[in-house]
Amino acid sequence: MFKAEKFLTKKACVLGLGRSGKAVAELLAQKGFSVLLSEGKPVAHVPALAKGIKVETGGHSPRVFECDFIVKSPGIFPQSAVLKEAKKRKIPVFSELEVALSFMPKDICILAVSGTNGKTTTTSLLGEILKEYGAQLFPKRNVFVAGNIGAPVSAMADKIRPNDFLVLEVSSYQLEDSSFFRPKVACLLNITPDHLDHHGGMEKYIKAKARLFKHQRSNDHAVLNGGDAGCAALAEKLKGSLVAFSAFPNHPLKTDVFFDGDEIIFSAGHRLHPPKLKGIHNIENAMAAALCALAVGVPAEIIQRVFDRFEAMEHRIEPVETYKGITYINDSKATNLDSTIIALKSFEKEQNIWLILGGRDKGSSYEVLLPYLKDHCRCVLSIGECMDKIEKELKGQFPIVRCETLEKAVDYAFSHGKKGDVVLLSPACASFDQFKDYEERGKEFKRIVHEKIAQDK
Ligand code: ADP
Repeated sequence: MFKAEKFLTKKACVLGLGRSGKAVAELLAQKGFSVLLSEGKPVAHVPALAKGIKVETGGHSPRVFECDFIVKSPGIFPQSAVLKEAKKRKIPVFSELEVALSFMPKDICILAVSGTNGKTTTTSLLGEILKEYGAQLFPKRNVFVAGNIGAPVSAMADKIRPNDFLVLEVSSYQLEDSSFFRPKVACLLNITPDHLDHHGGMEKYIKAKARLFKHQRSNDHAVLNGGDAGCAALAEKLKGSLVAFSAFPNHPLKTDVFFDGDEIIFSAGHRLHPPKLKGIHNIENAMAAALCALAVGVPAEIIQRVFDRFEAMEHRIEPVETYKGITYINDSKATNLDSTIIALKSFEKEQNIWLILGGRDKGSSYEVLLPYLKDHCRCVLSIGECMDKIEKELKGQFPIVRCETLEKAVDYAFSHGKKGDVVLLSPACASFDQFKDYEERGKEFKRIVHEKIAQDK
């Protein structure tokens, strides 16, 4: 466990100059530590940092090992040379999450959401529900939403007061380093193979996710996906009380909630209309957020109020505009094939989709898309670096138009689409061949769509 007072010479090293590395360095500097912020990669522009923080980039110098302890940013590879050397020298290594929590009051209410997919949506929904609830309590309880989403936890350390809610989106990277993290409510949405090189295999990945529940006690709550084999396998070892969800029939774990096609029905008796988000995966995200909120005493009416007004999140099957009967949808967050399949399945079978597909390839075959393309799509509009691969794998089996850029793809769909069609950017690829990140790609798509429509009016 991280205890600031144990380190008398007050020399800290933070590995990784990302958002959370910068935030935890500033927090430690503010608490009187001299901090070395050490980044392994070269950095063109080092951001302005508080006094008391020294920065080194493009490699880790021996100064790292002169520090009392190391704070590791989530992205740093556990098997990296710098961490191996620290271990050899018995220098304690802590996570940003746990250092930040050690500076917070003990009696805050922490709700943590993890999983391979759906974390951001579920965390946002839960954050909105708690904000609505906290605002009407007397005395009012503030809500902070942090972690992978929004600001790093370290940036919240000085703002949060006793009894406030802290809603955290935690990744497996953050969990693998945690040694005392104990959320009041811990929710695991699903575990599917992802980030396996980082963790060193599926077993270790599941082990990292299991840390979410490891330090819970009997008066804490665990919310699990009962339809997910990886989640179900963790149920036996839980110390907190378990509630499970699934939007599908036939699940390995008995569930406390089901979906009848219209309402989410809880075994405790509540019935809720889900938010108007596309796709059965979002029914599961809503179930998970509701179970977390109910666990800390939020009344069902408040959850319903938030469900009623909650809109699609940016870049996640986000409606952009409908013009001349054609609807444009931004799903730029779909950076792998699974996400694109999820997006396609959330549309009716008879819907005619112009699917904008492509970018930087991730190594899997696009052929897995074929059944869904045949069910839901009119045509694939290919863009980016992997156009040749898409063509090679789908040609002769499904219509493809080579468009190269987003602009040309939108143009093509705009002039060939018919009333009732959907133009969906759900690229199943990384964005880095043409854009800074998936967010820039999604924003660019929306800009092009709006501009095209404005010109046509
Ligand atoms: P994360 O933060 O875990 O990446 P998001 O909420 O940002 O999750 O959703 C990202 C993508 O993951 C979505 O566009 C969708 O394709 C997929 N997804 C979302 N929720 C779920 C879920 N509950 N189960 C499976 N896939 C999901």
